Amino acid sequence: KLTMLKLDPYINVDPGTMNPMQHGEVFVTDDGTESDLDLGHYERYTRIVTGKNNNFTTGQIYQTVINRERRGEYLGKTVQVIPHITDHIKECIYLAAEGCDVAIVEIGGTVGDIESLPFLEAIRQISHDLPEDQTLFVHLTLIPYIASAEELKTKPTQHSVNKLREIGIQPGILLCRTDRDLTTELRQKIALFTNVALDAVFQAKDVSSVYEVPLRYAEQSLDEKVAKLLGMWTKKPNLQEWADLVDAEKNPIGEVNIAVAGKYVGLKDSYKSLHEALVHAGIALKHKVKIHYIDSETLENGDLSEIKKCDGLLIPGGFGERGVEGKIAAIQYARENNMPFFGICLGLQVATIEYARNVVGIEGATSAEFDPEAAVNLIDMMSEQKNLKDLGGTLRLGAYDATLKKGSIIAKIYGATQISERHRHRFEVNNKYVKELEEKGLVISGKNADLDLVETIEIKEHPWFIAVQYHPEFKSKPFDAHPLFKGFVEASIKNKG
Ligand code: GLN
Repeated sequence: KLTMLKLDPYINVDPGTMNPMQHGEVFVTDDGTESDLDLGHYERYTRIVTGKNNNFTTGQIYQTVINRERRGEYLGKTVQVIPHITDHIKECIYLAAEGCDVAIVEIGGTVGDIESLPFLEAIRQISHDLPEDQTLFVHLTLIPYIASAEELKTKPTQHSVNKLREIGIQPGILLCRTDRDLTTELRQKIALFTNVALDAVFQAKDVSSVYEVPLRYAEQSLDEKVAKLLGMWTKKPNLQEWADLVDAEKNPIGEVNIAVAGKYVGLKDSYKSLHEALVHAGIALKHKVKIHYIDSETLENGDLSEIKKCDGLLIPGGFGERGVEGKIAAIQYARENNMPFFGICLGLQVATIEYARNVVGIEGATSAEFDPEAAVNLIDMMSEQKNLKDLGGTLRLGAYDATLKKGSIIAKIYGATQISERHRHRFEVNNKYVKELEEKGLVISGKNADLDLVETIEIKEHPWFIAVQYHPEFKSKPFDAHPLFKGFVEASIKNKG
């Protein structure tokens, strides 16, 4: 049994409040933890299910220690980075590793940063605490290519390993990031200067698909080396499904263009899971999915040409009012022109507003998020949330069940009427308007039965018009594309004609 954990060397206590344009997406786990986006990678590659024990920030570590100090738990002793902070880091690592055979602990940041020192000291101590062959340090380093000299440089690697050794960590394995093959001579040089065995210096060459990485490492027997250094006996790995996956990704039989109109289009990682979920669907359908990120604010002047060029429209999750009118215009176009449409979270809310305004004729329909004083709060907070002042506390987070209507399009797509998906939102479709929407043809195809909340909507007389209040992208896997993404991409391929 494997677990993976990420230690983030920043002070933010709550990754959920960090700006996705700066930090990348907030990944949401089943247990409702808002975490670093790397937990998404862990789940996609290994199928483990992560949660609150798989991600810690420096801020969280310090907060716990300071709270303990305030409660007098250290009995008035001087509280210090070593041992109190480092002890708590070790406590977190051991907690995550409980019941597992192997724990992979990733430390964010760069060796040499002041910020990551307590984490590095904690793992050094762990290697001291545990029997010799039970820990292994794998160090990811950089081998830059200097174009003018036509030369790969090993200096940054030498220096970062030296930094690690200064603080008592001797890496057992080096993964050398490079844009070209490393010669044996160069690896020998690295091995000599870093005191790492030659057969433990691996190249981590840039690849065109992230799903190629396990194959490229296996070719160099990285897995065997890890098993050997940890004194484990394992069978030879069978990587056929990875090979098939990469083969499918690299040899598509066609391509399809998907418009993603949102707010956080400036940073590649802002919609990481969404991006991967579309890639997974493409792999399953043997099509290259070309994703066009469009800043929805740019659609507000009425020029929808960027959308019209594409075969399908996706409106992802988001917060705040900016660009909403652009999204509404894009959705109206997709609805009226039989363009496949997929709305996620804010995407459902905006699609409902579009329908209310343009089909039902509810003028001024909007969300309380955009206009708290609005006369028509089609999207609103649930009543029990309204009195809570602290917005951070009002989000509906993590896995919740939804019941899908028998015979609905979405139930057919899932092949089930009971589903569980991850949520991260504050506002809901206001039940006051549901009857009117339904009478005018909007199908409320899924609901949370306990709280009577709208979970999914669809339009019957449309090739593919589905929106969901939850985030299906968090559960999509490379070998197991999410049925909604697959359905949407398939409809978009058909729309191409
Ligand atoms: N801003 C919306 C809400 O809070 C949607 C959130 C989202 O898309 N994740 O309900």
